[in-house]
Amino acid sequence: MGPPGAGKGTQAGTVASSYDIPAISTGDIFRANVSEGTDLGKEAQRYMDAGEYVPDEVTNLMVRNRIDEDDAAGGFLLDGYPRTLAQVEELDGMIKHTGHSLDAVVVLSVDPEELVQRLVQRAETDGRSDDTEDVIRRRQEVYAEQTEPLIEVYRDRGLLHEVDGMGAVPEVTERVLAALRGVTPS
Ligand code: ADP
Repeated sequence: MGPPGAGKGTQAGTVASSYDIPAISTGDIFRANVSEGTDLGKEAQRYMDAGEYVPDEVTNLMVRNRIDEDDAAGGFLLDGYPRTLAQVEELDGMIKHTGHSLDAVVVLSVDPEELVQRLVQRAETDGRSDDTEDVIRRRQEVYAEQTEPLIEVYRDRGLLHEVDGMGAVPEVTERVLAALRGVTPS
């Protein structure tokens, strides 16, 4: 977890490969569907371009299908899911059904000014259509309203690891791996 620009996607790939499991990024799956012009992509794009969350039913079904794929049978790392309380509940159900367990939740924290700088930079290099100033502002609001409350939920469950997301990418990776070292997959 972490606000837009915290570095979730960057860290998820490296951390997942060190555990030899897939990183499942809802944002990446939506963007792939947008560029392929699928029905899911057409539906998702309206929300993404406005900085809003794609509706839970759409997102939940997509994640459910993805974690049923063979490469996720040995475990997986989720990037950008769950983001709402309804998604938390849905994930609990999915995990029960697959026989897995939710072992850890990592939240990356980054100074607000740094977040805006990173996103503006990303808009210049990657050309992501949702990295414009007003859409960034809306994504930050939506994160604060809908996703920040999940931090307490997972803290109460004893699953939360708060990691400082400031600094160089490899330093942050080391912090995430160090935080997870004490976690025993059950
Ligand atoms: P960021 O965290 O920087 O906003 P992502 O690539 O993770 O970037 O997500 C981009 C967009 O995809 C979000 O603004 C939202 O519209 C959609 N999205 C991604 N994950 C979810 C989710 N779990 N629930 C609803 N919408 C999502």
